Amino acid sequence: MDFMKQYHSNDWIYPDAIHRKLGMEIKDIYGILEMCVDENIVEQYLNVYCPICQRFTGNIYKTALEIPEFVNCVHCDTEIDNPLQHAIIIYKVL
Ligand SMILES: [Zn+2]
Repeated sequence: MDFMKQYHSNDWIYPDAIHRKLGMEIKDIYGILEMCVDENIVEQYLNVYCPICQRFTGNIYKTALEIPEFVNCVHCDTEIDNPLQHAIIIYKVL
């Protein structure tokens, strides 16, 4: 839980970044973050990344239902088909 201390209110937490930084198992990271959701420390969001340029589009959604059919990548102008397939779960510190 120690690594949570480096985050501040309204920070975004990318489980993949923690995985790269700390070498923890991705599923353990999600496990901890899900516990934090239960404790109302963080909130879950979905961030769509571009399958072409591999960057986040900056389109963040609260639920899968909010994700539109198409999202345009602001970086390479690709029209991303079925963005839900390219959504990554991230967390926001409350
Ligand atoms: Zn792109």
